[in-house]
Amino acid sequence: MTKKPMGLYIHIPFCNKKCDYCDFVSYSMDTLAQQDYLGALFAEIDMVKKDFFDETFDTIYIGGGTPSVVYEGFIASLVRKLFSSFHIARDYEFTIEVNPASFSEEKFFEYVEAGVNRISVGVQSINPGLLKVHGRNQSLSDVDKTFKILSNARFRNVSADVMIGLPKQSKKDIVDTVNYLIKQNVQHLSVYNLQIEKGTVTENKIRKQELKPVYEKKALKQYNEVYNLLRDNGYSRYELSNFARPAFKSRHNSKYWDNTEFLGLGVSAYSYVGNYRYYNTKRLDTYIEKINEGKLPRFEKQYISIKERRTERIMLSLRTVEGLDLEAFKQEFNEDLLQSKKHEINVMIKEGMVEIVDNFLRVTEKHFYITNSIIVELM
Ligand code: SF4
Repeated sequence: MTKKPMGLYIHIPFCNKKCDYCDFVSYSMDTLAQQDYLGALFAEIDMVKKDFFDETFDTIYIGGGTPSVVYEGFIASLVRKLFSSFHIARDYEFTIEVNPASFSEEKFFEYVEAGVNRISVGVQSINPGLLKVHGRNQSLSDVDKTFKILSNARFRNVSADVMIGLPKQSKKDIVDTVNYLIKQNVQHLSVYNLQIEKGTVTENKIRKQELKPVYEKKALKQYNEVYNLLRDNGYSRYELSNFARPAFKSRHNSKYWDNTEFLGLGVSAYSYVGNYRYYNTKRLDTYIEKINEGKLPRFEKQYISIKERRTERIMLSLRTVEGLDLEAFKQEFNEDLLQSKKHEINVMIKEGMVEIVDNFLRVTEKHFYITNSIIVELM
């Protein structure tokens, strides 16, 4: 069997300012720190490239942090290094995340000339007042300007991130944001329900009762609102949090869901290769120190046992609209799920929660949002 092309992820750990709800690894911007980081990334690429000599990569994803905050020329130089170090397929998908507050026409042309063909805009909400409550610096004019740059250049492969479940977020705010993005002709939307992460400012404010958390029932209503709006406007849900117009699904993200191998570079990135996960250090200073010592900046190598792989396969596949390929599952895990979980599956079919279509086990549309509880039944 021919090996599937891999994905390549590069983490840019810089942001203008930390948003209150965020627990991603990100640091304030500073050109010197960015230059050091770029140098370290080059060194990491040089250390790993020989191990991937025989591999082809057909998706590249530069994420963060905020990749658009780094100085002009950073991304172009990084991309040249990637293309000269790895074998990149001709029909690659190449995404970069941008934040409206730090995006510009100059940066857009730098990315496109370097080979970027997909842009993911971190919009979250078009209500600046709400964003301010959550410590996110972004004005509506920044968002307008971003979409103007993209539409003037007739750049079509655009995705946007939207958040729901934010304390103080109204239904109107969500509907206005999604309608705005539909009007901007965005082809792909990722809709994330806020997870309250430990140690964040948001968690602290909730603990001190300065903010009220949004409970599951309300978040489900918000999600269904978004789902209906997008469905009525030609977007299909292909994964629990992801919606796309035909031909605009994210090929890179699909690799995470279908168990394809990927290489992650940079601070806090991780890779999945040969049933192992390799985690890079989360600290920028340790990352640079290790690299300067000529060592890989990894802090953990974790073997993914067959039991864990089975669990992940069920979890990730059932989050997709396509569902779980029962034949492929049988081949890989030597288990006929329709037999081993006969009772549970039959009950769920009777209750209309799951269905079997062309030998794929799927969560029905009506029950998609409770996918997690369905997954638990099959563990
Ligand atoms: S811009 Fe994104 S990565 Fe940076 S702090 Fe805000 S949510 Fe986190």
